[in-house]
Amino acid sequence: MKAFTTEQLQRLVALVKASQSVAVLTHTHPDGDALGSASAMASWLREGLGKDAAVLLPDNPGDGISFIVPDDCPLYIGPDPEALSFLSGASLIILADANGFARTEGLADTARSSKAPKILIDHHVGPCSEEFDLVFSETEVSSASELLYWILTSVGARMPLDCASALMAGMTTDTNNFANSTYPSTLRMASQLLEAGVDRDLIVRRLYQSGRENRVRITGWLLTEGLKVDGPAAWMILPREVRREFDLRDGETEGVVNMPLSIGRVKLSAFIKEEEGGIFRVSLRSKPGVSARECSQRFFHGGGHEQAAGGKIIIGEDVASREEVPGYVEQALKTFLG
Ligand code: 5GP
Ligand code: MN
Repeated sequence: MKAFTTEQLQRLVALVKASQSVAVLTHTHPDGDALGSASAMASWLREGLGKDAAVLLPDNPGDGISFIVPDDCPLYIGPDPEALSFLSGASLIILADANGFARTEGLADTARSSKAPKILIDHHVGPCSEEFDLVFSETEVSSASELLYWILTSVGARMPLDCASALMAGMTTDTNNFANSTYPSTLRMASQLLEAGVDRDLIVRRLYQSGRENRVRITGWLLTEGLKVDGPAAWMILPREVRREFDLRDGETEGVVNMPLSIGRVKLSAFIKEEEGGIFRVSLRSKPGVSARECSQRFFHGGGHEQAAGGKIIIGEDVASREEVPGYVEQALKTFLG
């Protein structure tokens, strides 16, 4: 990871000092790193500096990760009037774990049109720098949570335990519990957070050992009925009937997309979940040498990281009907992998 410039750090401190109410935003379908980085930022601002900071999410997080935002952290979910009113009244706006306001969906227009200074803290490629007054963008890092950890460390911030725990949780989910994107700096961060008293065992239990039975059952269905493997490509499609049959909640299929990568010859794995309104959400994971991000940009209106990306298939645009989705996916993966 590159070091931050003195100018960046001084600007951050000055912008935070000059503001009282701070809106901390993150991306739609928030994952653990989105919640970890945003709520850690809010904890530092509130408990460390006495600011009125709140976390604003475009939509609901999954049940299994919502614990990452501490109970006492002011939280707005969805672009309802209260959220938009807090956002338009904020004297500082911070976006974490997304490369631009477009990824905040219903919050984007209000955020962009605010006169408040805006700060970006992100680890995706292609930051929309023109939307921000101050940009911390670094891709050689595990997570936005890790990036924020090193920023806070560099400004000599005192990190409340809530803040430190949220950062540990965010980094843990984005590295898939240290299975990928783990840098020397990531392990240093983990070590320092453990020394600071973060209960990592508890975080791991909450993240990986607190699900419902359905979570394991749907994994079974996906790996038997759902999985298709063809050369270096693997894909699983979860239709809405099956979602209903298993009474699935948000986040309960998180991580399943990684499983086909345990097959030696598979280089690219896709998980496609049917949502409401003619949209299929796409998750992609790949092995080094194959860019999940590029595949998502070319075929699924999305983006992300080299080895982990996401996007969507739109009925009426990419395909005429939901029945054509399996064919579209197969064709896209095969074309991409050549
Ligand atoms: P996931 O598969 O866990 O939903 O997403 C994996 C990665 O891809 C995350 O870093 C996420 O931010 C990114 N990602 C997911 N969906 C989209 C999307 O629609 N657009 C872009 N640009 N990135 C996405
Ligand atoms: Mn992230």
